[in-house]
Amino acid sequence: MFFKPDINTYIPGKIICVGMNYKSHIREQDGRFPDKPVLFSKANSCIIKNKEYIICPSEVKELDYEVELAVVIGKKMKNVPESAVSDYIYGYTIMNDVTARDIQKNESQWYRAKSFDTFGPIGPVIVDKSKIPDPGNLKLKSYVNGELRQNGNTSDMIFGVYELISFISKSITLREGDLISTGTPSGVGIFMKQKKLLEPGDTVICEIEKIGKLENKVIAECQQNN
Ligand code: MG
Repeated sequence: MFFKPDINTYIPGKIICVGMNYKSHIREQDGRFPDKPVLFSKANSCIIKNKEYIICPSEVKELDYEVELAVVIGKKMKNVPESAVSDYIYGYTIMNDVTARDIQKNESQWYRAKSFDTFGPIGPVIVDKSKIPDPGNLKLKSYVNGELRQNGNTSDMIFGVYELISFISKSITLREGDLISTGTPSGVGIFMKQKKLLEPGDTVICEIEKIGKLENKVIAECQQNN
């Protein structure tokens, strides 16, 4: 049976993320285009939903946002060619790939920097794939306190959605409920001429055409129980 998640109760199995997948994001950090997808993971315990708080841990000094198109897998898949990947997708949502930049820079693996509790906002809905026949041409934006920060299009991806998922499935079985987050365009806070990182009190909105707006406010760890 095909998996049909409800966004309110949905917790992904695996979360596989893709780094350095937008040309604009590589250019803003003077990076090199990768010849294979750059994969990493976030712990699924970091998932929160629309309007929930991003909690900034006291040890994190450089908190950043990344708007991303995220794909919900609907059916177990292994070694699937790019042309058939769509048959295994349930739908699409937005992920804010929240990142502790200071920890990302200081530790050789990104797992902890990407996986603090609340660093995985997703939503506001999961859109059925029938509503997005071409995931390779969607506008995506992010705003902090109403200021436009990222303004890209999924057409700027180096590895397209189907190509990425086919690539992953060659080595890793994907199961219904797994989430693939496909990378972020330019405009993240750390690479601005004057860094614009997230502070407690800020509100981040991630928006993708045909999906909607994902809104999360940042609070400091010590405010968590207030
Ligand atoms: Mg990312």
